[in-house]
Amino acid sequence: MTTDNKFWGWLGHDRSSANGNMVWGQYAPKPFETRDIEIRVTHCGVCGSDLHHLRSGWRPADYPLCVGHEIVGLVVRVGSAVTDISLGDRVGVGAQSGACLNVAGDCPACAKGIEQYCPQHTITYDARFPDGSKANGGYADLWRGPAAFAFAIPDSIPSDWAASMLCGGITAFTPLLEHHAGPGKRVGVIGIGGLGHFAIIAAKALGCDEIVAISRSSSKRKDAFEMGATKFIATNEDKNWETSEGCKLDLILCTVSSADMPIEGYIGLLDLNGHFVQLGAPEDKTPPFSMFILLSRHRSMSGSLIGGRRQIRYMLDFFAERKIRPWVVNIPMRDANKAIQDFEKGAPRYRYVLVNEENLNWARWGC
Ligand code: NAP
Ligand code: ZN
Repeated sequence: MTTDNKFWGWLGHDRSSANGNMVWGQYAPKPFETRDIEIRVTHCGVCGSDLHHLRSGWRPADYPLCVGHEIVGLVVRVGSAVTDISLGDRVGVGAQSGACLNVAGDCPACAKGIEQYCPQHTITYDARFPDGSKANGGYADLWRGPAAFAFAIPDSIPSDWAASMLCGGITAFTPLLEHHAGPGKRVGVIGIGGLGHFAIIAAKALGCDEIVAISRSSSKRKDAFEMGATKFIATNEDKNWETSEGCKLDLILCTVSSADMPIEGYIGLLDLNGHFVQLGAPEDKTPPFSMFILLSRHRSMSGSLIGGRRQIRYMLDFFAERKIRPWVVNIPMRDANKAIQDFEKGAPRYRYVLVNEENLNWARWGC
């Protein structure tokens, strides 16, 4: 397949694109370089971050903007300096597409294999590569970018599952590993969406003793138990959950992105020395809370950003070996606007994946 310098994708032109007003159109990809590859996109997951960017929620977006950072597809073009990827390979790209990758020690993050914390981190869309060209995502027919952030997908993982893992999966899995989730550990997961459902599934696969799903209502209770939860808290329905369930957990992953969250109640679920990891990224500041909630039980708090390249490869192998099945719902790429409208309503159970149909050029032919 030959590609040109005009890709097709769903473009957000202003904040209203987050309401389902993306427009299918052409855009110029970055200039093709020797270390780049091109992927014919077959699948792209819909992440909460796509909505934040489309509506300029965190900062003004660099419109026009093609979002999507859970990309899987087939390699259709390989730069001359790429040695580990071949034409026809099935690969995936997550939320990061660039970093300085200086492992000689100048960049402590890249040297440690945690490239997501590289100061020169390029996110997969709504960003600029070092040459100033725009980075665009996977709600598209093609993706072009550095091969260094493309990952071979194990044969046993279907492409729709793999797509959802490349941001949702790794963001949940990395802090579980970092905080030694496994036998003997009691883990809480707040917000049962794309990230949260992965956190439950992965905590079960890691052998955690207790997995407490913390949701606003009881509507996801049955699903959460099926995923592997051992207990369910519905914060808007269960009376006195803050006290009856307080001080019982070792680790909490919080995926909530609303500033309107009962943060003291959440932190209070942690036992002595418990650790709270914030994954969700509110557009407003997180609500203030009393420091005594940390002081009183030697609790601690941190944030965590996606995962590094080594961690992603490890996750893919681990998920393949354990036959981890994410709960994905496939939606035709042509229905991307409907998908993000439904996402905003909280409809996904639990990750939408946009699927390009057989004839990837459908839009070019005016279908
Ligand atoms: P999602 O599928 O919408 O899941 C978020 C969950 O949060 C919802 O399912 C809901 O769970 C809960 N929630 C929503 N509104 C809430 C509210 N007002 N109060 C309390 N809970 C609420 O979204 P996602 O794709 O998992 O992404 C979640 C967040 O993580 C987003 O901010 C996204 O940008 C961020 N993110 C961060 C990273 C990272 O590297 N740290 C990576 C990817 C995404 P219940 O219905 O169970 O309450
Ligand atoms: Zn994401």
